[in-house]
Amino acid sequence: MNTTLLSSSENAILSPTENQMLVELLETVKVNTAYFMGYPVSKDFNYEALMPFLQYPMNNLGDPFVPSTYAVGSREMEKEVVQFFAELFRAPADDWWGYVTNGGSEGNLYGLYLARELHPKGMVYYSEATHYSVQKNLHLLNMPNIVISTQANGEIDYEDLENTIRMNRHMPVIIMANIGTTMTEARDDIGKIKLILKKLAIKHYYIHADGALSGSYSALIEPRPAFDFADGADSIAISGHKFIGSPMPCGVVIAKKSNRDRIARSVAYIGSMDTTISGSRNGHSPLFLWYTIKKLGIEGLKARAQHCLETAAYAELKLNEMGIEAWRNNNAITVNFPEPELRIRQKWQLAAEGGWSHIICMPNVTQSQIDELLADLSDV
Ligand SMILES: *Cc1c(COP(=O)(O)O)cnc(C)c1O
Repeated sequence: MNTTLLSSSENAILSPTENQMLVELLETVKVNTAYFMGYPVSKDFNYEALMPFLQYPMNNLGDPFVPSTYAVGSREMEKEVVQFFAELFRAPADDWWGYVTNGGSEGNLYGLYLARELHPKGMVYYSEATHYSVQKNLHLLNMPNIVISTQANGEIDYEDLENTIRMNRHMPVIIMANIGTTMTEARDDIGKIKLILKKLAIKHYYIHADGALSGSYSALIEPRPAFDFADGADSIAISGHKFIGSPMPCGVVIAKKSNRDRIARSVAYIGSMDTTISGSRNGHSPLFLWYTIKKLGIEGLKARAQHCLETAAYAELKLNEMGIEAWRNNNAITVNFPEPELRIRQKWQLAAEGGWSHIICMPNVTQSQIDELLADLSDV
């Protein structure tokens, strides 16, 4: 790869110093990718077959389901990706819509945007373990909101949720549910949330599921967590570069078509509908998601999820055997343990918060990598 960079005719116009910068960056990226267990990013992909597409200005401008005058893109594949997740998330057969986003955060922003258009006087509830980007999105959308406390495992405190909604019963309820929190991968139970809404006789509500981390595989495990449309979600956002894997950040948002229709606006300039957050949209990322979905199929993705769960169980067990108080949520691939020393956190790029750290057993993480981390941990 180094030689390719140096000898390609395109790079001949770069100065030797500039060329060297590219070579060094590539080396750094390689090394840092090898030791990478603290963030939920898959790196086991091979998209060589898609490389020819990098020669073209792919742009899925506008709504994926409405053809645009701009025709260099991957709309057909994007629609298949959206359909795949709509079905996986048990969206109503004749009432789903979605698009490939720039990541989970954009999908969450979209869900909140739809919720606000449907319930302009709504109050948003979300737990203190919610991803940091959600508060910014609420600020952007200028939506009133209340933070709900969490249980020790990171799951929303249902009692606090019920009491808080009760105090604001006159307002429509908008819930941002976590399907895998950032730190401990806790899942809020949408079934339990629906029961609270029923008990309080709340007529107007909207539930968005932030499935950025575990949404993509929650539908593939047993018992199936209560998180999707059949359980009561009105929209779901996932990240594409996490469980599926992609060289660039991306995601998918699935919503009800009838809700999306309320904000659709036709734009002559692009010949499509302006239903997405950004105008120009990445035309390459749908190809990556499509390729993996087609290559693995449901069974392959299930096996992928199973592998993650087995690695996580192994890590938890081995850490406990070493006398480290590791724990994880049910059916989670995130293993939590007391924050190790900085040297180890830097090498393995482990996030830390409130004295706790975690490893996330993404599909590419193997038992031998876990063993290497364990050796580092016992080497203090
Ligand atoms: C990663 C993550 C996000 C943000 O997703 P991006 O793809 O990084 O934009 C939001 N919520 C949770 C729970 C996440 O894990």
